Amino acid sequence: MTLGFSLSENVVDLAYVAAAIAFVIGIKALSSPRTARRGNMVAAVGMVIAIAFTLTLDEVDHYWFVAVGLAVGAAIGVTGARFVRMTAMPQMVALLNGLGGGAAALVATAEFDNVAGTDPDWNVLLAASLSVLIGSLTFSGSIIAFAKLQELLTGRPIVFPAQKPLNAALAAAAIGLGAWAWIDESMTALVLLIVVSLLLGALFVLPIGGADMPVVIALLNAFSGLSGVATGFVIQNNALIIGGALVGASGTLLSVLMGKAMNRSLANVLFGAFGQVQAGAGQARADDGRTVRSTTAADVAVQLAYARKVIVVPGYGLAVSQAQHDVRQLAQLLEEKGVDVVYAIHPVAGRMPGHMNVLLAEANVPYDQLKEMDRVNPEFPQADVALVIGANDVVNPAARSDAGSPIYGMPILDVDKAASIVVMKRSMATGFAGIDNELFLDEKTTMLFGNAKDSLLDLIGAVKEV
Ligand code: NDP
Repeated sequence: MTLGFSLSENVVDLAYVAAAIAFVIGIKALSSPRTARRGNMVAAVGMVIAIAFTLTLDEVDHYWFVAVGLAVGAAIGVTGARFVRMTAMPQMVALLNGLGGGAAALVATAEFDNVAGTDPDWNVLLAASLSVLIGSLTFSGSIIAFAKLQELLTGRPIVFPAQKPLNAALAAAAIGLGAWAWIDESMTALVLLIVVSLLLGALFVLPIGGADMPVVIALLNAFSGLSGVATGFVIQNNALIIGGALVGASGTLLSVLMGKAMNRSLANVLFGAFGQVQAGAGQARADDGRTVRSTTAADVAVQLAYARKVIVVPGYGLAVSQAQHDVRQLAQLLEEKGVDVVYAIHPVAGRMPGHMNVLLAEANVPYDQLKEMDRVNPEFPQADVALVIGANDVVNPAARSDAGSPIYGMPILDVDKAASIVVMKRSMATGFAGIDNELFLDEKTTMLFGNAKDSLLDLIGAVKEV
């Protein structure tokens, strides 16, 4: 079946330019919570333009297949977007990356099969081999990342003897098979390349700790973009080349920025098996005899209600307990009492980039109350209370003062400079980095133990009584 008409390639290329402009404007708008929704819409419109005009190309056939694919894909996409919880977003993104890489590899394989033996341009087969290598690796790596985040596999690094030499050997084999497929136009080599790349992707992600997955996912995102670019060259589709390049570049930048915000190199994330709990961590008493002081919701309520300025510091624990709406309610109550409330947002608070912005935006916290680390840090000395909710590493002063600490050098929120600090968490357990936090022993600090959501509900009740 055909459409019965076809547009000239120039018209289609013009439409692709419009789509590319929409992608770029969309990505730019994603950089602020205020404009992010609009950015998503603009980029989605760009994608619709790209798909619609591609369907008018002469070489597109089998419209029924395309229609069924669109219907099934859209149904799964809409269901996922509606029902996946915000805390499960990282694994959703992992799946989407994996599918992107897998799709790019499949298209490249089909085209390789079409043109092999017909004396095609050398660069088409080279691009196909590259797409298959990177796309298959992205697919299996993303599936392992998904399984770790969904706790189908342990989140701890899975290590075994000779893992790194084995991975290096697989990488070398993949490159060799890619070269064989390219030079010999060999479908056998391409199939072997798929198998080896799938294995390499899975084995490469296995030793990485579950909590480092967001960085790995950003990297796999970049890979999926690269495989898209390669496939774009294979089927000579400019929209795919541009879209893939944008994904590749943004994924790479995001990995680098996350590494910077944690003061860790990409190599440390990928090969360091970071996040193992230090022996003896998580005690309520320091070696020098200092102990933590626990408090009650009623006492904290009084402290908050009579404060002039409160800085709320949300962390991963707020996200897992889904307490974003409750913290917003507490802040509103305090504002009614004349308290100035702002939220301090650390770039890697939580388990994915922008996690806290997204959660608090969902609870309709006004954007001007969300303050990024550099903007809010000078305000801590003027704050009467810093209310730390389920955050740990991002407020650990060891990052500033203890050169031996695994997080030394990571920029942190200067919570310890506030007049008093209230930390809400369930126990003395460590955060992701697996280390103790001196802040909990600070004489200005009190601990409100409990699940963040329950404690916030108690606090809301108690503030109403004040
Ligand atoms: P942390 O992991 O340091 O600490 C979270 C704290 O929340 C824990 O100590 C835990 O203590 C507490 N908690 C867990 N569940 C609950 C609950 N239901 N109610 C109350 N408290 C709870 O989180 P941060 O946000 O401070 O730091 C993020 C960490 O993740 C950093 O180390 C960062 O480098 C890392 N990371 C972040 C990435 C990102 O993109 N955002 C990417 C990769 C890593 P307890 O068990 O006692 O309750």
